[in-house]
Amino acid sequence: MLSRVVVVGSVNMDVLTRCVRMPRPGETVPGRSVSLLPGGKGANQAVAARRAGAATSMVGAVGDDDFGRILRDFLDSEHLDLGRLAAVPGASGTAVILVDGSGENAITIVPGANDRVLPNSLDGIPLTPGDILLLQGEIPEATNIAAIARAREAGAVTVLNLAPYRPTPPDVLRDVDYLVVNETEFANVTGVGADPAAAMTSDRVEGLLADGAGVAPNVVVTLGAEGLLARLDGTVLRVPGFPVTAVDTTGAGDCFCGAFGAALARSEEPEQALRYASAAAALSVRSHGAGPSMPTDAAINHFLG
Ligand code: ATP
Repeated sequence: MLSRVVVVGSVNMDVLTRCVRMPRPGETVPGRSVSLLPGGKGANQAVAARRAGAATSMVGAVGDDDFGRILRDFLDSEHLDLGRLAAVPGASGTAVILVDGSGENAITIVPGANDRVLPNSLDGIPLTPGDILLLQGEIPEATNIAAIARAREAGAVTVLNLAPYRPTPPDVLRDVDYLVVNETEFANVTGVGADPAAAMTSDRVEGLLADGAGVAPNVVVTLGAEGLLARLDGTVLRVPGFPVTAVDTTGAGDCFCGAFGAALARSEEPEQALRYASAAAALSVRSHGAGPSMPTDAAINHFLG
């Protein structure tokens, strides 16, 4: 039987408004357009995993509002198993995003229903040996900790994308099979420097990985267009980025994690799964939006040749 990907995570409605320039406090400025885009790291990764060919369950919550209905219909149209997607009283997770003429953005995220994804949401989740559990940082930490424990009991493989970063106890990270972070998150995980982003070059990442930083058995540090560095079973390796013309990198990390999970679910070797995920993410940055830009398995294989 093929293994499944189970995503326990966030579902958001992104309300994207383009404006000529950012309003100052108290000011009103004309907007150019407004779009409603299904998002949230959990949902994005679930869509990416499903399009990459894995049977995928989305465990989480939406509100009982109009956004909740739209989000559920969208996830259903992507052929996700929604048996554990709750509808809870109140607002769905909502991100209000302002983008000005220069591409600069300002974002407010209201977690809404995502804060109600509590450990009891995991009761009866379908996890069997070899399944891949994908987690991120947009639902309560207690739920992630409980999910990691459940995955270990079930013999499932856990991929934790610690984004957005939040301090996580080392004993929790040790129980994760793959920790996936970008360089800024890796700087936070390893606690380097007062300005962690500035301090983190790819050589520095490589050195830290070689020294065993990151605690989890396997650590993947994504480096945008440069690709990634990983430590798999103690061996540090580099997967260069695929050269593409990027038009929108929103959701590249989510695409990467979803496709990585799908490849692991097919029992691909981790190194091969990283290359597959890197190709998927490179394809995703060639078009606009997060969800709509997730590539299919056929497109990824075609790209890989
Ligand atoms: P985001 O927050 O935008 O979703 P992230 O910071 O979590 O992204 P990145 O390191 O930017 O993650 O990108 C994840 C992966 O996507 C990279 O490891 C790489 O494989 C691919 N990628 C991102 N940007 C590009 C690019 N411009 N060209 C090719 N591949 C890219």
